[in-house]
Amino acid sequence: MRPVWRVAIVVLACSGVQCGPRGPAQPAPPAAGVLRGANVLLVTIDTLRADRVGAYGSPLGITPTLDRFAAEGLRYEVARAHVPLTLPSHATVMTGRYPFANGVRDNGSFRFDGSHPTLAGTLKQAGYSTAAFVGAFVLDGRFGLNAGFDLYDDRMRGSTSNLEVVQRTGEQVLSPALDWILQHDNRQPSADKSAPWFGWIHLYDPHEPYAPPEPFRTRYAADPYAGEIAYTDAVLGRFLDRLRSSGALDHTLVIITSDHGESLGEHGERTHGLFAYDVTLRVPLIFWAKGALPPAASRSPSRLVDLMPTVLDLVGVPVPAALDGRSLRAVGERDAPAAEPDTYFEALNANLTRGWAPLKGVLHGRWKLVDLPVAELYDVVADPGETRNVYAAQRDQARELEARLDRVVAGAAPAAPAPVDAAAAARLRSLGYVVGSAPKPSRAYTAADDPKRLAHLNAALDDAVDLWSRGDGARAMETLRGVIRERPDLTVAYDRLAFMLRASGRIGEAVGVLDDAARAGHADRALLRSLGSALGDAGDLRRSAAVLEPLVREDTTDLQSSDALGQTYARMGRGPQAEAMFKRVLDASPNAAATWNNLGALYLSQNRIGEAIEALSRAITINPDLATAYNGLGVAYAKGGQIDRAVEQWQKALALRPDFADARYNLDRAARK
Ligand SMILES: [Zn+2]
Repeated sequence: MRPVWRVAIVVLACSGVQCGPRGPAQPAPPAAGVLRGANVLLVTIDTLRADRVGAYGSPLGITPTLDRFAAEGLRYEVARAHVPLTLPSHATVMTGRYPFANGVRDNGSFRFDGSHPTLAGTLKQAGYSTAAFVGAFVLDGRFGLNAGFDLYDDRMRGSTSNLEVVQRTGEQVLSPALDWILQHDNRQPSADKSAPWFGWIHLYDPHEPYAPPEPFRTRYAADPYAGEIAYTDAVLGRFLDRLRSSGALDHTLVIITSDHGESLGEHGERTHGLFAYDVTLRVPLIFWAKGALPPAASRSPSRLVDLMPTVLDLVGVPVPAALDGRSLRAVGERDAPAAEPDTYFEALNANLTRGWAPLKGVLHGRWKLVDLPVAELYDVVADPGETRNVYAAQRDQARELEARLDRVVAGAAPAAPAPVDAAAAARLRSLGYVVGSAPKPSRAYTAADDPKRLAHLNAALDDAVDLWSRGDGARAMETLRGVIRERPDLTVAYDRLAFMLRASGRIGEAVGVLDDAARAGHADRALLRSLGSALGDAGDLRRSAAVLEPLVREDTTDLQSSDALGQTYARMGRGPQAEAMFKRVLDASPNAAATWNNLGALYLSQNRIGEAIEALSRAITINPDLATAYNGLGVAYAKGGQIDRAVEQWQKALALRPDFADARYNLDRAARK
């Protein structure tokens, strides 16, 4: 038994020559529960590629905060995520379980159902106060990661009409987090009886679009992704300095990591999610606790599923049984290579949304297997860029990893969003739609379905979003039509094209695109939801309801369909049913500002003025940029006879959206009175 907590590191980092300021001393692993009763602060920086961090070898100098915490804390040199997508990756962090175990395989169409213990829930049971502050809609409470949190701050600002997911800046996330931590900090001896706290902070800025604020925009004009990282590091640094100077970090375990990296063009992928090369799987992983964790760097392979058991082990809270991760605390003591765990990974977005071959794989030691129709095997030590596929040359290694992968996934549930049942399918068929069936078994895919062969279509989808966000709608839509011509079963291309047509006011064409796709047999849940919603906007309320009702009935957790159906019912004048749909959404996602707005508008139409004011005010509290809510609130005040207050609200609506015709009309009408 060796105290390898840092032995391996010293060997590798120093190579026999004199060591740096850390010195040659090799501290023993920290004892279990060494941080008993400590607060826990988890920071996840979205889309932060490990090799862009100074402590992980970046020469860019953009992460002084992370580098400082890495130097003072315990840094895992080789840490990997299991899935290069935001919601599923955070679900592995929060549950210590692989995606096939916790059930969250993709963004948007999957929801954590709370059936596994979570880091937050386990700490809460142990007496912690818990709060999360997330930076993007993709982690909205409706997707289930709010389980175990006393407070889940997912308030996003701004309009939801952009194709990009709704997000907020690091400063907007950190400001309420600072308030909450300072309120709950128990560093004062007099506060011994108060509960320790667990805070999770999610900073989304490095995710595309890369648009850092000044001065980072100018300073990093040639590399805006680096600019986003520099901005994030800077605001995180100010936040942590503030906590340090107030003493709030004196007895706090800080963990800094990321959910996945970013390809930045390598392997033909611009962002992340399609493949699972190390550019998107490798993440920084740093544990820091003043005086309790000696500075060290560990070469022990570490995984995001290990985070939950490690934290619980350090703070002396029992680790739930049957996790896929293990505590890293004393991992060096048993670090014989044979004992090294497998690292499972997957990237199923293209399979689930495009019908391409599912990507799964496993890494063990220096070997990494990517199980696709055109299988890949890499020696990630000799070939860290994963540029030489040795699958054919290393058949024995490949077979051994294939066996390991089979063992890891044995008994795993297939990845399928809630299916449409036979009755629902029949109803939809009677409307002329063909619903996509359950995904094919893996072996039924051929090389033609391998994402490596289709990466150019993925790039075209990304290009279309990019063109759109830069204002070139015509070329964006032409790009999507080209994608559809080449691969007519690519439902996401229809969906995006329809979105752009709707946003351009061409609602009839949007319905046509979705209708044609559905009638040609390319409908899945997401496409049908878009169709139902577009039909509602087009005024075809009967068909809108007919498309959405089976989706909602089949899967009551499909809140997006519930929301859309609520809007259709409201337009049909079916108030009680609309109210039930909106309330279903708000029960699961209490910070859904747009839904509060729609519920308020419904109450207005029913002359339930008090309830309307309450709902619309709630929408504004959550999203102070929601112009429609101010307009509605104005109408509510006017109906209640409070014209001055109404005028005030309409002015706010116009200040936010100068071209807001309804607000302008209301103001003019009030002035004429
Ligand atoms: Zn992410």
